[in-house]
This record gives sequence, C-alpha cells and structure tokens, in this order.
Amino acid sequence: MDAKRLVLIARWAGVGLCLAGIVAFYRLALNVNPTTVALTLLLFILFLAARLGLQYAVVTSFAAGAAYNYFFLPPIGHFTIADPQNLLALIAFLTTSVVASRMSSRIRRESADAIARQAELETLYRLSRALLETDKLLELTNNIPVAIALATDASAVVFYLLEGDRVYRAGGDMPTPVSMEELREMSHAQGPSMAADGESAIVPLRAGVRPRGVLLVRGVTLSAQSLEALGGLVSISLDRSQALEQVTKGEAAKESERLRALMMDSITHELRTPLTSIKASVSTLLSSSVSAEGARDLLTVIDEESDRLNRLVSQAVEMAQLDTQEVRMSFSAQSVEELIRSAMEANDAVLRDREVSVTLPNGLPKVDADPVWMQKVLGNLLDNAAKYSAPGKPIFVSAEARPGAVAISVADRGAGIDPMEQSLIFDKFYRASSQRQIVSGTGMGLAISRAIIEAHGGTMSVTSQPGQGSVFTFTLRTSAPAKT
Ligand code: ADP
Repeated sequence: MDAKRLVLIARWAGVGLCLAGIVAFYRLALNVNPTTVALTLLLFILFLAARLGLQYAVVTSFAAGAAYNYFFLPPIGHFTIADPQNLLALIAFLTTSVVASRMSSRIRRESADAIARQAELETLYRLSRALLETDKLLELTNNIPVAIALATDASAVVFYLLEGDRVYRAGGDMPTPVSMEELREMSHAQGPSMAADGESAIVPLRAGVRPRGVLLVRGVTLSAQSLEALGGLVSISLDRSQALEQVTKGEAAKESERLRALMMDSITHELRTPLTSIKASVSTLLSSSVSAEGARDLLTVIDEESDRLNRLVSQAVEMAQLDTQEVRMSFSAQSVEELIRSAMEANDAVLRDREVSVTLPNGLPKVDADPVWMQKVLGNLLDNAAKYSAPGKPIFVSAEARPGAVAISVADRGAGIDPMEQSLIFDKFYRASSQRQIVSGTGMGLAISRAIIEAHGGTMSVTSQPGQGSVFTFTLRTSAPAKT
C-alpha cells in the first residue's frame, strides 16, 4: 500500500474517532442540551473544512447530523424525530455546516493559491536577477540552466537551443534520456506542458513568433502561467544580450573603420609628400645638366626625404607591433643621463640649430628600461619639440626623482596645445587642429611613445599653454639595486 493511501485512511479514521469522541463525551460524561452539542459539532466541522478540505467537512456533516439525531434528539435511540422543531434544527445544522464548510474551504484554497503565487513570483524575480547579471551571450547561455535550477529548486534542467543544435544542462539527469530529435520537436510546442514522466515541465522558448528552443525543468511545481513567464524571461534575457553584443560589435567595427580611414589619410599624405620630392629631384638630376652644387642639394633632398619615408614606415610597423603586443622589450638598469645623451645624438639632424639645455639633479637613480625603445620615445619628444616650436627657440630636457620612479620632461617654447586637445593628441592619428595644416606629421608618434612607456610600467602626460609652450613628462620605474 502506498504512503498516500495510508495517510488518507489515517485521516478518515482520525476524523471518525474525533466525532465518536465528541458524541460519547456529551452522551456519557456531560449532560448538556442539544444546542451545545450542535454548536460543538459545527465547530468541529468548520475546523475540518479549514484544515483538511471540503470533502472531509461535508461527509462529517452528514455523519454528525445522523449521530446528533440518533443520540440527542428525542426520541433518543431512533432516527425518527418527534418534534417538527427539532427536524428544523437538524436541517439548519446540516445547511449551516455544509455552507460554512464550503466557505471556509474556499478561503483556505485561495490563501494557499496566494501563497503559491507569491512564492512563484519570488522565484521569477530571483531568476530575472540572475539572468541580468551578465551581458555576454556565451556566458548567459552557459548560466541559464544553473540559474533556473537555483531559482526554482529544480532537480534537473535541460536547456536546448535550436540555433546550433546546442544543449546545456544543470543538476542531475532526466529520468528518461531525451534525444535531440525529441528536444527539436518540443521546441515547436505552443505552450508549457508536462512531460510523460509527470515530473518535468516542458517550456518552449520563442524569439518573437519563431521557435527558439526548449527548457525541461524537473521537480518544480510552478503554475502554467509561471512556466510561461519563466520561458519569457529566458527569451528576453537572450534577446537583450544579443542586442547588446550587436551594439558593441557595431561600435567596434565603426571605430576600427574610423581608424582605418584616418590611417589611410595620414599615410597616403605622408607618403606622397616625400615621394613627390624624391621623384622631382631624381627627374631633375636625370634630365638636365645640373651643376655639381645643385646635384648635391638635390641628393640631400633625396636623402632627407628617404629618411622621412623610412621613419614613416617604421612608425607604422612599430604601432602595429605594439597594438598586437608582439613587441619584446628587454629591461635593464639604465642611466637617465645616458638615455638622454644617446637620444640627442640620434636626433642630431633635428636638433642641429637648437639650444638644448639638459638639467639633471645629482644622484639620480638608474631606471628600468629598454634603451632601444626609450630612444624612440625621447627621439619623438625631441623631434616634436623642434617641429612645433619656431627655429631658434630653446628646448629643455630635465629629470627628477619621485618615489620609486624618475620623471623625465621635454619642454619647448612653441605653439602649445589647446586644453581641449591635450588628452586627444595621445590617440592614434590625432593631430591638433592648429598645427595640422602647418607642420607635416602622421599622428602616430605620441601614441607609440605612450604605448612604450606603459609597457615599461610608467605614465606619460602633457601640460601646455597655447602660445607659451608644452611640457611632455613621462615616468620610468627606478631599477631595484642589485642584491649583494
Ligand atoms: P605628429 O607629430 O606626427 O603629428 P604625434 O603623435 O607626435 O604626431 O603628435 C600628435 C599631435 O600632438 C601633433 O600633430 C601636434 O598637434 C601635437 N603635438 C605633439 N607635440 C607637440 C609639441 N611639442 N607642441 C605642440 N603640439 C604638439
């Protein structure tokens, strides 16, 4: 015999015993009037309606009516009723008990419904919060079954997506394994239903009106509406992260397209200018009788413009390498003075007619740096200082010790940079509007320099006043003293 049947038998037996107890108590122990008995029996029936349900209350009403008639209404010991008033009392008793039972049972059902609805709402709320935790589609798809299992206390969840024929699971196994073919078929169902095992809910998922997949949730007691809402929540969260990903992808594509266009502009312009000069110089050299001095001038132009081309191509390559983090830097303890000296030597051509004053405090610690890459950074800053200030204006190079680092600055008395543009000039290809037409450049130098400094664990910044000049400062970590 199963447990359910046993409980049922025990309940009926209990109810019968209680009824017999009340009757025996009033009949044998206490001598009370029939009204008191009727009210006690009514109370008992109301209690049954509230605790066990209508069925128990109605059956007990009739049993109580019969017992009341037999044991308490004259003639006692018979089912006949002598006084018509007592007959009326019995009918009133039966009607009251049946009506009151129905009412109390309905209230009981409604309150149980309300509690269940509230619990279901809480479950859906918990689930919606879990589904909103991530914006990434892949992460969300992986999390959905676990989130459902946690929110609904389901013992097993299977989440199937038609797109890509993918299945995700959480919890234990389904009692009977479900094939992909069955899942595909279930995805096309119209609304939630129960599976053949009687314990798993099948919740089809839709994207608009199109079937999207299905959820199999085992061991939950959610209403059909809540299951539908659960399916809706899952679909909305999938739509949401799909939309967010598309926006992000669209923005990334736009940004990369913008950079590509800027790069094409900058490189074609910068390539064309030196190539035009080289071509013109070579044509002149080939076509006419040029004096030895003229030929020397033209060859100098070709030499300088080839350098420019070379620098441009190197910058493009360096930037691509830094972007893809393909650069290998080898750091070692370097003297700041030495780094500055070698950068000045390498840029001798640019600084030839300049007064460059270098101010370094005594006892400056060594820094952790890759000398080859540092030469590029310092060379860039010195080149810019010369390019963006009038010939003859001085350039100042200085350094100071800071906690754990050394800050190196290159200052000029040039055009300066508009405050609005000071953070932008470190972006790739950005060239300040006031200088763009006057001085040639690619807009890559500072982006490269900053990337190199960041790879060294330092920072780079600028302070500038239009018309007064600019100071570019970067920091490098001091190198740890060698252990003895
Ligand atoms: P490029 O010099 O090739 O244009 P950079 O990345 O080196 O590229 O510099 C970006 C922009 O920052 C320059 O176009 C210029 O507008 C501005 N800039 C850089 N250095 C200075 C400076 N010392 N003085 C004024 N403006 C500068």
